[in-house]
Order: sequence, then structure tokens, then C-alpha cells
Amino acid sequence: MLREILPAIPDLADAKLVDTVAEKSAAVRRLLRDVARDYAPVVFANSLGAEDMVLTDMIWNDGIDIGIFSLDTGRLPAETIELMAAAERRYGHRIEIFAPRHNTVQEFVAGFGINGFYDSVEARKACCHARKIEPLQRALAGKQAWITGLRAAQSPTREKLKTVSFDSANNLVKISPLADWSEREVWVYLRANQVPYNALHDRNYPSIGCAPCTRAIQPGEDVRAGRWWWEAPETKECGLHLVDGKLVRVTKPEVGAGGTAAT
Ligand code: SF4
Repeated sequence: MLREILPAIPDLADAKLVDTVAEKSAAVRRLLRDVARDYAPVVFANSLGAEDMVLTDMIWNDGIDIGIFSLDTGRLPAETIELMAAAERRYGHRIEIFAPRHNTVQEFVAGFGINGFYDSVEARKACCHARKIEPLQRALAGKQAWITGLRAAQSPTREKLKTVSFDSANNLVKISPLADWSEREVWVYLRANQVPYNALHDRNYPSIGCAPCTRAIQPGEDVRAGRWWWEAPETKECGLHLVDGKLVRVTKPEVGAGGTAAT
């Protein structure tokens, strides 16, 4: 079960931890309001991970003027789609969905096969480009800033993650309001506020992407071990996130860490 792999769900009676989360939450809310005011139009790329649900709860509960979008790659797990629907019901808002262009997907499938991403890194990256990167570029077009749920502790290569940086690839400001949050703090927020989250997290999926490219992890495995598990670690990024203008890559296992990793 998840609790054997991820840190035990913290007891909400841990007053110090709850207070810390309350303080950090207030700071994030202030940041989100400032970003919405100073960088409009700004959007939040919601990949439906645990961190993303924290930000979704803050943005929609507080009525902050930040658009929320998700990339529907066409290969998402049913549980992720169900979470989208649950979030829309809970908050009374629509997530803006960006889907891949049908011709690029058809070209990928014709050239590499329906599950061709298993056959080579080249094919996998071509699929990620068609289903994620191109739609992301469309979602970010014309925006001043975008928001992500990345945390520095998610992997060694995200340690340098800054709350505010310039994303030179997409030519806009990138904000990661939860950069200094721990995985425990994320789950305290979700539990305390009864925020919906992906049911796969309770089945040993700390990091969730497309269904054919995500599996459950075993005790002791890196939190991203279930993503593109057939590839060498240094190739395991989809190209969506950059830190200091460089692609974030996983170069070594995250030893003994639990957590959720977006995208
Ligand atoms: S994660 Fe897998 S299915 Fe999804 S876009 Fe990338 S290669 Fe394609």
C-alpha cells in the first residue's frame, strides 16, 4: 500500500506541522494574487498531481484570476480523468483542456505504431512532443507567466528550482509556488482541506502521467521509477519543465525519498 512507500500520512493533530502549512499556504496565496495582478494573463498548468491539487484549491477557492488548464494527451489514466471531473464538480469551474492535434498523433501512430513509444527514446520523445509539448506551447501562447506545481525536493535535478524564474524556452516567467514545500506538507494541506486527489496515489503511484508510461513503484524505488521505466534515467523527461533555462533531467535515483512528482 501507499503508506509503506510514502511517508505516513501525517497526523493532523501535529499542531506545529499544521501551523507551518497554514503559514506557507498564506504566503502562496499572496504570491498567487501578486502574480495574477503583475503578470496577467497568467495560467496554471495543472497536471492533476497532488501538488497541482493544492494550487487548484487555492486558486479556485480564493477566486484568483489565474486560468487553469490541463493537457489531455489522449492516453491519460481513467483515474486522472475522473479527478478532472471531480475537481470541476467540487469548485464549479471548468479546467481548460488542450488536446493534441489529430494530424500529429496520426503521423506518430502511422510512423511508430500505436504504442511505438516503447521502442526507442526517439519514438517516445516524438509521442511526448505531439501529445504534450505542442499542446503546452499553444496553452502558453500570449501569456506573461505560467505556474507549475514543481517542488525542489522531487528529485536531485530539481534542487535548484526557484520559486520565480524565467523560462527562456517559452519566453515567459515561470512560477513554482510550492518550490520549498515538502511532500508531507502537501498531504497535510490536501487532508486538512479535503481536497480531491488522484486515486492512483493510494495504489503506489506517486508520479502519474500517461497510462501506458506509468506504473506503480515498489518500496525503496525512486518516486519517478514508475515513469518511462524501460528507459535509462537520464532520458526520463518529457521536456515540459526547465530549471534555469535547462531541461530538468533525472540523473540519479532519489534514495529513500517518497513523494509525488508532477508531469
Ligand atoms: S507519456 Fe507516453 S503516451 Fe504520454 S505522450 Fe509521452 S510517450 Fe506518449
